[in-house]
Amino acid sequence: MRPGVLEIFQDSFRDLRPGVSPPPISIEFFPFANVNNTIRLRQGELYVRLSDLLEGAPITVLEAIAHILLAKMYRRPIDSARAARYRRYVHSHDIRSKAHLVRQVRGRKRIASPKGKVYDLEAIFEDLNLRFFAGMQARPRMSWSRGRARNLLGHYDPAHNAIVVSRVFDHPRVPRYAVEYIVYHEMLHLKYPVKLRGSRRCVHGPEFQAEEKLFPHLEQAKLFLKTL
Ligand SMILES: [Zn+2]
Repeated sequence: MRPGVLEIFQDSFRDLRPGVSPPPISIEFFPFANVNNTIRLRQGELYVRLSDLLEGAPITVLEAIAHILLAKMYRRPIDSARAARYRRYVHSHDIRSKAHLVRQVRGRKRIASPKGKVYDLEAIFEDLNLRFFAGMQARPRMSWSRGRARNLLGHYDPAHNAIVVSRVFDHPRVPRYAVEYIVYHEMLHLKYPVKLRGSRRCVHGPEFQAEEKLFPHLEQAKLFLKTL
């Protein structure tokens, strides 16, 4: 562990909870599939996993991450300046890895634009990211499918680091919450990646299902998608 990271978390804890001494904190950098950071409290001890893509991040960025994770943990308001600092850093990173991916992908598969006739998938992703993930999810490429298949609502394509949503839903008769639900579902797949054995599977563990229930229009969205 890089020196100073623990101290950053301890300082941030004291900042959020003055007068309370910080619990033991275990921090590791972890090779998530995406830029992702998690925090858990288990038997009085905090366990933090930071994306290994952030291992070389400047101290101010690590301070921002510590603040965001601890504020989430203790249900305190997230300071918008720190949230912005973190997002700026991740996006600059994201752009670099995207540029790399684009080079890999060019000529093999064209990813369509995120802007549809009605809905902009990038805007929907960023909005959901702020509402439900404290801005902590790095945006993959967002794309409407080229075909109009109904059977596949949306999926995450790891080879192109892209969330692809069936173009059928880019229609004025489709309510925004239905598109949001499809994207939200795929964002949870990014948050809770599964190891793939053989064919691609859609695995919804208990954590996934609990978090999916936080989506405010879950029942309406499912109903709408069923009757489509
Ligand atoms: Zn799924």
